[in-house]
Amino acid sequence: MLAPAPKPWIMDIAPYVPGRSTTDDGRKVAKLSSNENPLGTSAEAREAFRSAADSLDRYPDASGAVVREAIAAKYGLDPMRVIYGNGSDEILHLAAGAFAGPGDEVIFVRYGFAVYEIAARRVGAVPVVAPDKDYATDVDAILAAVTERTRVVYIANPNNPTGTYAPREEIARLHAGLPGNVLLVLDHAYAEYLDDGADDGGLELAKFAPNVLVTRTFSKIYGLAAERIGWGYASAEIVTAMHRIRLPFNMTIAGQRAAVAALHDEAFVAHSKAHNAKWRAWFAEQVASLGNAGIRAVPSKANFLLVLFEGRLTAEQAYKGLMDTGYATRWLPGQQLPHGLRISIGTDEQMLGMTAALRRLVEQAG
Ligand SMILES: *Cc1c(COP(=O)(O)O)cnc(C)c1O
Repeated sequence: MLAPAPKPWIMDIAPYVPGRSTTDDGRKVAKLSSNENPLGTSAEAREAFRSAADSLDRYPDASGAVVREAIAAKYGLDPMRVIYGNGSDEILHLAAGAFAGPGDEVIFVRYGFAVYEIAARRVGAVPVVAPDKDYATDVDAILAAVTERTRVVYIANPNNPTGTYAPREEIARLHAGLPGNVLLVLDHAYAEYLDDGADDGGLELAKFAPNVLVTRTFSKIYGLAAERIGWGYASAEIVTAMHRIRLPFNMTIAGQRAAVAALHDEAFVAHSKAHNAKWRAWFAEQVASLGNAGIRAVPSKANFLLVLFEGRLTAEQAYKGLMDTGYATRWLPGQQLPHGLRISIGTDEQMLGMTAALRRLVEQAG
């Protein structure tokens, strides 16, 4: 019998695995598995979201004007060159959709963000994995992977799930080494967590270079993951191409209003950043003190730590043990990290409780 056949490259896609918030038997646990803001959302953003309840019968502004203008004003950008999406995930897909196709190559790093491979395969392109350098981005390995078929290079900086950061000079060197017809996508989902003054120069590159797209999100420090608002900045030509294939109404009214309000609430962002910096440093020290047990953390600039289990206690045991005590973390065997747990920075109480639980698991393993 005849049946529709999915394109072969579609069935080669391994489905995206989201972070968990319940145990196997449905118990609710503290969610340290999706890098969300443990402090919630700006009160002003929540209020703006509520105001949209009176407009449910109306389509949103397809041009996303209020969001583009607020972003352009904050960062000194041309509002016409701001692209927006249903989360930055959509923009990552738009990049591959507009610039790669069957037979083309798309490069990302080993231990890169899972969406890049999905975006590449979705359009029939060939994913090319550049080896890491001790879990971090290796610019030389990326440049060595470039061929005449390369169309897109995706880099998350800081990277997820490793938390590693490539400094400005490395990003400049990567850009300088790429052929002009290769689109360099710099995914800045965690840019707001960088130390004051740290900046990989990506947005400056996107202002002037014809082949750089920077993506940002409201899902992380702004605490608006539910609303799915992301944005990007690139040349007018790149943005024009992406507009052709984005969904017409890809940002809801509530999401647009909440995003603008969140952008203006700088105190909430500063507070979230300080909370993160404090607990990230504290947790890194706690993990370092478990070094005898073969446990270490990859140095992180983001709102999570990748903890490596190379001793008696395995990452799988730690994952299950933490889940049993009420903490969902992200175990990543599907991303070649069967020995790693990515743990998001949580509230004060969650960090103390989770760390104590981890210590008990280490002791029990002997
Ligand atoms: C969380 C994350 C995103 C953001 O996804 P949204 O679709 O904006 O929610 C993008 N890139 C990386 C590396 C991330 O970790």
